[in-house]
Amino acid sequence: MNAYPKLPEFDYIKPQSYKEASQFLISHAGEARLFIGGTDLFVQMRDRVYKPKYLVDVKGLDGMDEITFLPSQGLTIGAGVNMNRVIADAHIKQHYPILAEAAESVASYQLRTRASIVGNICNASPAGDTIGACLLLEGVLIIFGEDGEREETLSTFFLGPGKTTLRAGDVVAAIRFPIPPDGMKGRYIKLGRNQLSDLSIVGVTVLGYPEGESDSGYHFELALASVAPIPLVVKQVGEILGREPITDDTLQEAARAAMDVCTPIDDVRGSAKYRKLMVRNLSYNALKDVWGQLTGESR
Ligand SMILES: Cc1cc2nc3c(=O)[nH]c(=O)nc-3n(C[C@H](O)[C@H](O)[C@H](O)COP(=O)(O)OP(=O)(O)OC[C@H]3O[C@@H](n4cnc5c(N)ncnc54)[C@H](O)[C@@H]3O)c2cc1C
Repeated sequence: MNAYPKLPEFDYIKPQSYKEASQFLISHAGEARLFIGGTDLFVQMRDRVYKPKYLVDVKGLDGMDEITFLPSQGLTIGAGVNMNRVIADAHIKQHYPILAEAAESVASYQLRTRASIVGNICNASPAGDTIGACLLLEGVLIIFGEDGEREETLSTFFLGPGKTTLRAGDVVAAIRFPIPPDGMKGRYIKLGRNQLSDLSIVGVTVLGYPEGESDSGYHFELALASVAPIPLVVKQVGEILGREPITDDTLQEAARAAMDVCTPIDDVRGSAKYRKLMVRNLSYNALKDVWGQLTGESR
């Protein structure tokens, strides 16, 4: 048996407009699949998860290749922008560093010249490393579909492993982020089996910023990768760290809350029990790191 079979044969389609792409996908539903970098799709085709007759390359469409930052509106990343460009972008480094940090944890430099943030999201793996940052930064997808353009918030986008709210004919054109709150700090901690090119066993994204309205004076958010059927935002963390002055005890309580709500499974990368314990430990480390950044005690 050949462990690495070739890709099945396919026709390559390069549409000239969103409308043409969308119409082709609708009229060839079940036979056509769109791609950006192909780093998920080609592996799935090699493994015969998908055997599309047509591959629709949408990278060349209007705006796909652009990163735009407007101080009054925020950041827009075109679906065709690869992760190395996200990491290198000066505006992203300054205003959304957690996005660059998460992207930098993905595989290798070589892979990141192909892999995109939007592909990471649309593939909808619970292990997607950039998804936590995109969720906590309140990302909104700009989608071109059968009825024209619409926006969809990321918080309701994921339905299960590999399942999203995308419909036949939908092409995600970009992801948009609002201006982040003043003084926001973040941290992404990824636990993999090695430092290079492995999916996460556990991924923890934390954001925190000063907030006058909460009793603690701060707002925190935490998202988890690889420990539930969909990327998980742990609301309890914000509640615990908002209601009283932040101490080592409250950071530990928040980390335990993250452990309690996640529902990992056993798989080749780690057992459910190990993952739960790592969620607690890494959530504590990430929360403590962000708290240190906010109070000027670290980084
Ligand atoms: C060796 C290797 C290592 C990897 N390591 C990591 C890792 O460490 N962390 C991690 O998170 N991922 C990892 N991955 C997975 C993959 O690289 C990422 O998920 C990547 O971000 C996918 O982006 P892409 O542009 O290549 O997506 P593609 O493969 O082009 O697309 C992925 C899926 O999304 C759909 N899609 C893509 N673009 C659109 C669009 N514009 N509109 C609608 N649907 C769309 C496609 O139809 C497909 O189903 C790895 C993959 C490989 C091969």
